[in-house]
Amino acid sequence: MAAVAKGNGEEPTCEQCYFRKKMLCALDLEKPCVSFRADRPEGLSPPRQPVLLMRPPRWVSDPDRADAAA
Ligand code: SF4
Repeated sequence: MAAVAKGNGEEPTCEQCYFRKKMLCALDLEKPCVSFRADRPEGLSPPRQPVLLMRPPRWVSDPDRADAAA
C-alpha cells in the first residue's frame, strides 16, 4: 500500500491513527496506509476533498447552440 503524505512535512505514524487507537486495524505495515485518519478529540473526520469547480455550460462556448437558446 502507498504511504500517506501529510501537509506539514511530518510523516504520520500508525500510532497517531484513529483505527489503531480504537483497535480497529488488523494491518501490520511499516508505514501508514491510505486509510490513515488522524485520531482527534472530535473523533473520526472524513479526508479533505478537492474543491469542485463548476464549468460554464457547453452551449456558452458553442455559438450555434447559444443562438438557439436565446
Ligand atoms: S489503518 Fe493504516 S494507517 Fe491506520 S493504523 Fe492501520 S495500517 Fe496504520
